[in-house]
Amino acid sequence: MLLSSPKDVREHTDSYYAASINNQSNYPSVEGDLNTDICVIGGGFSGVNTALELAEQGFKVVLLEANRIGWGATGRNGGQIIGGIGHKLEQFKRSIGDDGIKTIQQAGWECCEIIRERVAKYNIDCDLTWGYADVAIKPRHIDELKAFQAEQHAAGYPYQLEWVDAEQMREHHVNSDSYLGALVNKAGYGHVHPLNLCRGEAAAAASLGVHIFEQTKVTRVIEGDKPKVVTEKGSVSADFVVHCGNAYMGDLQPKLAKKILPSTSCVIATEPLGDLAEKIMPGNLAVCDPNTALDYFRLSADGRMLFGGLSNYTGLEPKDLVGTMQAKMIKVFPELTSAQVDFGWSGQMGIGINRMPQLGRLSKNVFYIQAYSGHGVAPTHLTARVTADMIAQQADRFDVFAKIQHWNWPGGKLFRRPGMALGMLWFKLLDEL
Ligand SMILES: Cc1cc2nc3c(=O)[nH]c(=O)nc-3n(C[C@H](O)[C@H](O)[C@H](O)COP(=O)(O)OP(=O)(O)OC[C@H]3O[C@@H](n4cnc5c(N)ncnc54)[C@H](O)[C@@H]3O)c2cc1C
Repeated sequence: MLLSSPKDVREHTDSYYAASINNQSNYPSVEGDLNTDICVIGGGFSGVNTALELAEQGFKVVLLEANRIGWGATGRNGGQIIGGIGHKLEQFKRSIGDDGIKTIQQAGWECCEIIRERVAKYNIDCDLTWGYADVAIKPRHIDELKAFQAEQHAAGYPYQLEWVDAEQMREHHVNSDSYLGALVNKAGYGHVHPLNLCRGEAAAAASLGVHIFEQTKVTRVIEGDKPKVVTEKGSVSADFVVHCGNAYMGDLQPKLAKKILPSTSCVIATEPLGDLAEKIMPGNLAVCDPNTALDYFRLSADGRMLFGGLSNYTGLEPKDLVGTMQAKMIKVFPELTSAQVDFGWSGQMGIGINRMPQLGRLSKNVFYIQAYSGHGVAPTHLTARVTADMIAQQADRFDVFAKIQHWNWPGGKLFRRPGMALGMLWFKLLDEL
């Protein structure tokens, strides 16, 4: 049995998000034995939204978080709301067919809408802003983005995707010489303060009766007709359990840990930039470049540059996080050479071998959701809905995802990292072509 010591229990990492959190109030820890319909493990977007969806459907839910709500990847990410679930869906045609692919494509559109509706319904204060751009670095990226634009419009994507050349891009959207143009989505994708979104969603869940516990690490799940979730100072017996620990789950459930590789990504936040903010980012968009180890950036509501990247599969934070990220940022925006960096942090995300979020069942009443491969702000909202629907006996969409095979990382625990590092190198080489 795994036991945690008080040293394992931590507050939010020191980040711009933690420094600008709306609601400082915390939730209690579990003490004693509880009974509920559904117990959700992990208080990130996956867990909080699963709990919220289930509470909206009238279930009694207990949500257990080892640290604080939003402590993991959810409270540390770039805040970019990007639709789409998985990539290269054609690879799954044999297992899910054309209809399955269409279902997942539409789910990829729906996930951003869930955030839009949720923020409006529960009046969540989280700096929600619409507007996003995929930028092109090499000529082949222009062709790829234009092909994506045509394919999305042909499939009925409900928002306009506009290709802008380098000059238009600099004038109206992203004022940098680093890119050859951009595919702009002004209304369907966007950005958000992710920690405030998640904490707002948790508050909504609590208002519907979800019992939320923080600093409550789950040490064991005893499966059976009525699974028992054991914590350091108590337990929760439930009809259903949902694992949402993702890259931070450790060894709680080795079968799940085998399917993901925790990978690190880093973010810095400058001081508020004043007028310079609008000069360099006139469109106030969230932006991603097309590399596998991508740069992603956007402005915060108070005009800071939030610049992220440096994804790596070693699971380690770089020695000089701020210096390394600052150099990347200045390459894109030389105007920021003298901007002070106020915050720098990193987080872990779960990467799956086929880059499709993993939903499934460990046994008839124990479910899991994980592995968004660096792209989970919006998709977590969809996988939470699908899992809640499944538990509420509406199985159709869950079964589509569950049919997709998720291989274990080869090489066992010891060799997963070097194996993946090699894979990453290969992808980096592709980026250079
Ligand atoms: C630096 C960074 C930047 C990113 N940028 C973006 C972006 O801009 N856009 C985007 O779409 N995606 C982005 N992502 C990915 C996105 O943040 C994640 O996919 C998403 O937040 C995953 O949410 P989750 O709830 O599944 O996992 P997490 O948010 O990691 O939550 C898991 C939670 O489970 C808890 N937990 C683990 N084990 C236990 C246990 N035994 N008992 C109780 N609780 C436990 C942890 O404490 C943690 O809070 C980024 C990720 C990182 C790290």
